Amino acid sequence: MMIKRKHIKSIALLAAASFLASCVTQSGQSANIMAQEKPQYALVIHGGAGTILRKNITAEKDAAYRAKLAESLRAGQSVLESGGSALDAVEATIHIMENSPLFNAGKGSVFTHEGRNEMDASIMDGRNIDAGAVAGVRHIKNPISLAREVMENSNHVMLAGDGAEEFAQSRNIALMDAAYFQTEKRLRQLERAKARDMGAILDHDGDNKFAGYDDPIDPDNKFGTVGAVALDRDGNIAAGTSTGGMTNKRWNRIGDSPVIGAGTYADNMSCGVSATGHGEYFIRATVARTICAMMEYKGVSLEQAANEVIHGTLVDMGGTGGIVALDKEGNISMIFNTEGMYRGYIKGNSEPDIYIYK
Ligand code: ASP
Repeated sequence: MMIKRKHIKSIALLAAASFLASCVTQSGQSANIMAQEKPQYALVIHGGAGTILRKNITAEKDAAYRAKLAESLRAGQSVLESGGSALDAVEATIHIMENSPLFNAGKGSVFTHEGRNEMDASIMDGRNIDAGAVAGVRHIKNPISLAREVMENSNHVMLAGDGAEEFAQSRNIALMDAAYFQTEKRLRQLERAKARDMGAILDHDGDNKFAGYDDPIDPDNKFGTVGAVALDRDGNIAAGTSTGGMTNKRWNRIGDSPVIGAGTYADNMSCGVSATGHGEYFIRATVARTICAMMEYKGVSLEQAANEVIHGTLVDMGGTGGIVALDKEGNISMIFNTEGMYRGYIKGNSEPDIYIYK
């Protein structure tokens, strides 16, 4: 039997409202922002999830993160306000975070075991299910822009390593010397991870369960992967994610961030998602696509779908992390099963709402 879309929506809204109430009281870890009325446009971002505890972050660092997250949101907001596309907003937003040493993407990327920086990124256009991604690039200033270039000006979805950089050169994408990405703090994180033989670790999760240590690799520097999801005035959704991956990763390890359906997904019919967390789990659970597919096939709300995947599927698997997402009505979800997630959103011309801790 066909259920009318309107009907599905009201059932979903009712269910979501009661689910939200129970989530907030039971776990206190989720943030679902129900749209009062559909905003003209919306944007939600993250700067990584992990063991992000207030006690480990100084007031100055806290303020610096909030300021950079707000700057990122405003960059995307000004694109959307002037009628720009969701894709343009996602790219402009992520540029701010990629250019900042605060986050594990672009300039602030973590080090591999070999002492290099290898970055991954992906972007998706919900209008036509078009997507582009790059993996293991070492000299690209803004990997999110190269991912977009792959989507718009190649016959492929994902390019990797030297080939991706060769393509970048042919498309006049900005390349940098490797030294541009080598920050002192990240090098210290790598040294500590290696000294303790910790394997590959999430940069903000030196103290998480799988690493098996009580203190973070660098309590002052818990940075993360970045992502953005936008809904523009034309009702189009786009999502993008950019990362340096995991500290001390080896063997050209690639995480979920450039994998369409795992770290990033966007479909105007359902939602857009950008993920952050322990990539191996996000790939196996196809987190981003599953959330959109649950909305599409089960008729559930974004909140229900995201909660089920992040607090259900992932937790059962032992995977840590979170997502930011929005749907075509402008409902926003920022959900994580870790101690914190750098995150924020705007709806229309609202002031940025920024959060860090649980
Ligand atoms: N998901 C990223 C990866 O596994 C890391 C992160 O989100 O911080 O490469």
